[in-house]
Amino acid sequence: VRPADCPPDVEELGRATWTFLHTTAAYFPEKPTQAQRVNMLSLLRALPVLYPCSSCAQHLGENMKTRPPDVSGRAGLSPWLCEQHNEVNERLGKERFECTVEKLDERWKDGPSDGSCD
Ligand code: FAD
Repeated sequence: VRPADCPPDVEELGRATWTFLHTTAAYFPEKPTQAQRVNMLSLLRALPVLYPCSSCAQHLGENMKTRPPDVSGRAGLSPWLCEQHNEVNERLGKERFECTVEKLDERWKDGPSDGSCD
């Protein structure tokens, strides 16, 4: 068993990064200010340059060229990010996630309606 205080491997770093990104997208305003849009775009554009898994960063950069980030608001950003994650899921043979705002809000912001995550 790998001790919990080892440096993150690609999987652990990936889970932590997706958690941060999807949660941030789920809380991104419906109608962001210019500053919020500009900063979100900077955050996302930094990933292909700085993400410390070079093959991951390279794939992401290529995908972002064909499908640029939608920072117009939460309704565009959450599904955009979900599709980026699905592209990785597909490449790794993992299941696709249904990229509706309802499913994304449930997973990353509100929790299921049965209150099990309250
Ligand atoms: P993860 O894929 O980390 O997902 C965490 C949780 O997110 C899941 O349990 C699920 O509840 C939810 N989820 C799943 N899919 C979606 C979705 N589409 N939208 C919203 N929520 C979802 N690994 C590689 O081996 N090669 C790569 O090229 C690579 N590229 C990456 C690029 C980026 C930008 C990031 C952040 C990570 C990348 N990774 C890559 C890591 C990989 O995506 C996974 O994080 C890692 O394999 C661990 O997978 P996991 O099964 O624990 O769940």
